[in-house]
Amino acid sequence: MPSSAFWANHWWQVVRQQAGRLRVGLLEHWQAFCPNPCRLCTQPTTQAVCAPCFAELPHVQSACWQCGLPLEHVNPAEAKPLCGECLASPPPFARLFAPFCYQPPITEMISRFKYQSALQDGRLLGTWLAHYLMAQRMAVDLIIPIPLHSTRLRQRGFNQAAELAHWVSRYLQVPWCTDVLQRVQRGIPQQGLPRRARQHSMHRAFQMARVPKVETVALLDDVVTTGATVRAAAHCLRQAGVRHIIVCAVARTPKPGMAQSLSSKP
Ligand SMILES: [Zn+2]
Ligand SMILES: [Zn+2]
Repeated sequence: MPSSAFWANHWWQVVRQQAGRLRVGLLEHWQAFCPNPCRLCTQPTTQAVCAPCFAELPHVQSACWQCGLPLEHVNPAEAKPLCGECLASPPPFARLFAPFCYQPPITEMISRFKYQSALQDGRLLGTWLAHYLMAQRMAVDLIIPIPLHSTRLRQRGFNQAAELAHWVSRYLQVPWCTDVLQRVQRGIPQQGLPRRARQHSMHRAFQMARVPKVETVALLDDVVTTGATVRAAAHCLRQAGVRHIIVCAVARTPKPGMAQSLSSKP
């Protein structure tokens, strides 16, 4: 059973998110009536980001059909291209959807959102993700943001994945919840760790707080790097009997060395 600290964190998170969204919502409505500087190039626009800047974002062009890893060379005749890792060791989820490579300016936007509480960036990223998922015709019954450990949640004040889930849920008209999965190992910061060390650090990182009574679940995170975190979370859901699991994220990190050649205009 989840501890009282878990529930206290859960409700504190809900209150903070509602207050933040109200502020962001009022600001966005005001901006829709009068041109404001593009968030990326400062040219006047009635959108948060102007059309040329949106076109220049590092959209994923071709990716592994299952884990979403950006791929350099894909045979156009191949309907479901798979990366080497999915062929050797398929992940415990069916698909991963990510609209962007984890490259500038997406890296800076996610960093501002996570570490400087820039909720406007969170809303924008969540909206872009939602539109991408709608274009991909993603159909799920429930969205579960990847939980933070309670210590990190207290430090940051909010869970960035839950914030994104709110916006995705609003567009897709699919419920989301934070009371299914619980993070029980704080782990060490994953960025920069070798793949094997990262996967080892995620071992038994999650446990179920309750079993959802749905067929298809979407796990949602801001960035998927090696996939160790979402693999661990999906494994936990699979063990609990959830039959169909997909993953969605704002950005997917390309393999080192691929980064420069992958991003181009959509
Ligand atoms: Zn611009
Ligand atoms: Zn793959």
